[in-house]
Amino acid sequence: MAFLNSNYLKLKGGYLFPEISRRVREFCDSCPDVCLIRCGIGDVTESLPLAACAAFHRAVDELGSGKAFRGYGPEQGYRFLRHAIVENDYRSRGIRLDEDEIFISDGSKCDCANILDIFGDQNRIAIADPVYPVYVDTNVMAGHTGAVDALGMRYEGLVYLPCTEANGFIPDIPTKPVDLIYLCCPNNPTGAAATYQQLAIWVEYAVRHRAIIFFDAAYEAFITDSTLPHSIYEIPGAKKCAVEFRSFSKNGGFTGVRCAFTVLPKELEADTGTGECKALHPLWNRRFSTKFNGVGYAVQRAAEALYSSAGKVQVHELVSHYMGNARILREALHSSQLAVFGGVNAPYIWVRGPHGVSSWQAFDHILKEANIVVTPGSGFGKHGEGYFRVSAFGSRLNALEAAQRFKSLKW
Ligand code: PLP
Repeated sequence: MAFLNSNYLKLKGGYLFPEISRRVREFCDSCPDVCLIRCGIGDVTESLPLAACAAFHRAVDELGSGKAFRGYGPEQGYRFLRHAIVENDYRSRGIRLDEDEIFISDGSKCDCANILDIFGDQNRIAIADPVYPVYVDTNVMAGHTGAVDALGMRYEGLVYLPCTEANGFIPDIPTKPVDLIYLCCPNNPTGAAATYQQLAIWVEYAVRHRAIIFFDAAYEAFITDSTLPHSIYEIPGAKKCAVEFRSFSKNGGFTGVRCAFTVLPKELEADTGTGECKALHPLWNRRFSTKFNGVGYAVQRAAEALYSSAGKVQVHELVSHYMGNARILREALHSSQLAVFGGVNAPYIWVRGPHGVSSWQAFDHILKEANIVVTPGSGFGKHGEGYFRVSAFGSRLNALEAAQRFKSLKW
């Protein structure tokens, strides 16, 4: 008899997006003629930057040319891409990293989950709430929690860090000791981005408690406030206490291409369990060599092209397009008397529904009355209840039409 991983059985009813799809399908089956606007799932909609497409083509031609064929590449990524990242994302901001501190992968979702492989099961885990649900679910799968509560909202054993209007959606440091801390900045779903001072408090806490911060900066390219940090390593001391996750999914439109990276500084250490400290870099390196065979050469060439001078202009245009949508949607929601947050440093607008209306009630109402798909805030955690998320990923026409519909929506 084989045994399954019973931790999977603890996962509550279904991941958020399948449930949204189910309700949308049901609605479309009953009203087949409606013209639905999707502001729900955070997937990009616009074409790949031309510089990336051209690099892709060139790389494919190289592979087929007979002269520059490549098989397995370095598991951790090609030097050309690691070099472009170090120079453009970090050195340009005064951060010194070695190229081998960058690990190229096929997505931040996998990285956020896989990082748990190199940490012990005894860690106390703190997770912002509301946040990208993958952090909680992967900890459940790894057996780091007890059962979910009766409301299906909270797992025993996790420390939830409330992100509320009172703290500007930036979590306060916990009152109980914790070892691993997930911060998402700018945050999905609230759109909040931390200041230097707010991040410095977290770095100071982590260094003092020898905790490690998992800093998910998948949306850093959308920060428009020039006073805000883009990387946690802009804070002195962060190389001793933080792993950073970055992705080309949203800035480069790579959700279907798949390329991301993790920064794991060599200075980062953790306890072996016997009171001795050891570097984490060799463990993550070993994990890559053993469990991964690298991202495709053409994909990495396409990612590299995002850092070329034409690529940078095109990435900027792409990000500006989505942030233009965010402004249109934010203003429309604001004019309909709802409390509106985010949408300035992230492509997500976080909206508090009218008093007494739950997130799923708001979702159903907006779907039926405005024919717009949003994301219920409660799907991102208990503190998301009563809110909904509007995604700015879409065409300008859709954003304008959604804005009109939001303005005329009656609650
Ligand atoms: N991190 C956050 C906060 C996200 O919102 C997402 C995707 O929506 C990801 C990571 C996933 O990124 P990737 O496409 O690189 O797997």
